[in-house]
Amino acid sequence: MDHLPIFLQLRAVPVLVVGGGRIAQRKIELLQRVGARITVVAPELTPALAQQAAAGQLEHREARFAPEHLEGAQLVIAATNLKSLNTAVSQAARARVLPINVVDDPELSTFYFPAIVDRAPLIVAIGSGGRAPVLARWVREQIEALLPAALGTLARFMGARREAVRHLLAPAARRPFWERVARGTTGARVLAGDTAGAERAYERELRMAQLTASSATGAQHLGEVYLIGAGPGDADLLTLRALQLLQQADVILYDRLVPAAVLERSRRDAERVFVGKQSGRSSGETTSQAQIHELLVHYARQGLRVARLKGGDPFVFGRGGEEAECLARHGIPYVVVPGITAALGAAAAAGIPLTHREAAQSVTFVTGHPLKDDTLDWRALARGHQTVVFYMGVAHLPHICARLMAAGARESLPAALIERATLPGQRVLRGTLASIAALAERAHISAPALLMVGEVAALAQLSGASDSADEPAAERAAALRPRESVHEW
Ligand code: SAH
Repeated sequence: MDHLPIFLQLRAVPVLVVGGGRIAQRKIELLQRVGARITVVAPELTPALAQQAAAGQLEHREARFAPEHLEGAQLVIAATNLKSLNTAVSQAARARVLPINVVDDPELSTFYFPAIVDRAPLIVAIGSGGRAPVLARWVREQIEALLPAALGTLARFMGARREAVRHLLAPAARRPFWERVARGTTGARVLAGDTAGAERAYERELRMAQLTASSATGAQHLGEVYLIGAGPGDADLLTLRALQLLQQADVILYDRLVPAAVLERSRRDAERVFVGKQSGRSSGETTSQAQIHELLVHYARQGLRVARLKGGDPFVFGRGGEEAECLARHGIPYVVVPGITAALGAAAAAGIPLTHREAAQSVTFVTGHPLKDDTLDWRALARGHQTVVFYMGVAHLPHICARLMAAGARESLPAALIERATLPGQRVLRGTLASIAALAERAHISAPALLMVGEVAALAQLSGASDSADEPAAERAAALRPRESVHEW
């Protein structure tokens, strides 16, 4: 290690900045955030700095640098584009044993500015010894994505209670307590902006810690469950919160629709449990919904953090509601993390806008999986000016199309099938209500795939979406031709 990372207290501390250009300005902004008292030596200032000088927010010495300017300073920054001047500042500062940073010049510097992830009061600083600032910034971006935006709020929440906990818990009990607060329900609530929920979870955690301390057996800490939407397949479409909680979870229960690339983003040492279902039925190797509920409760009761990872969004044909009900019934805390549902992923990937000016003013997500007694309002689904997206419908395409047409939708109404949306091998198939089922059969379309019905389905061609299996060009052109009577049915 070539440099020791330390955090300087600079409130009201005199700092000298040599140079008044854009680079100096950026350093000055940073120094102002920590309350340093800044003097700038430069013949000229940027307009923003000049304004600050006029407002008395910094002191401006309109001059070329001279060693006397260092008088009283406790830290020096040279941010000019003149090597000779930077060298002179560096030499003068070193002669007075003052810490000096020459921007982008490690040779002339005794300290340098790290890349920062600011979740004040929590700060992450990343350095590369001035050798690869680009790499340091890249690492910063990774950490930036991983750390919740409200981490500072959590740090303040914990800080405000630190003193009280010192009186309530024995030293040995404090660290595990704070770990549970930070990584458990309390933390999750604070990060989600639910202050009242956080307060309740915190009180419960505190009571539990006191109980554990006073009982010989020790109370069993309750785990918790994260119902996480994994998005349509592409791992980059995970939300930041999904990523953060996947990094925390001890156990991950995942579906058939969750690809390996998404699982890879979870904690390396987490236990991974496959609980996939095939068309909602349980067979030899698959898990029934009741078994999934049992597993969730089982793991949470062991005090573990359980991620229940589902394709798309947990609350869109994901049975997330049933799992949430089950957890609530058993008094197990849970958090729901939304995901990009397949319809949204597919729409973007195929270039099909789900709503589009007068062509579609509403969008409906429907299950294409026929229920024993079909309660769908087919007449409503067959009406114009809308987009209807069928999930789980591949096996029943002829049935769906026939029902729509019987209910009044016209045969030439555009329809699109998107198979494996956002995943490698994605295919987009376009046709009409009358043709799409046969086209799908010919192309051997299989699950997961979505059917989109409505005028917007003809717009897919505009996207430049690749990997498309299509109707013959003539039919496609016909679908694209401007229609005078868009809503002819
Ligand atoms: N909760 C999920 C839906 C689960 S139901 C969500 O919000 O997306 C399963 C159905 O979703 C599949 O039968 C298919 O219709 C659709 N689906 C899921 N992932 C898909 C994908 N990558 N491409 C196309 N359809 C997909």
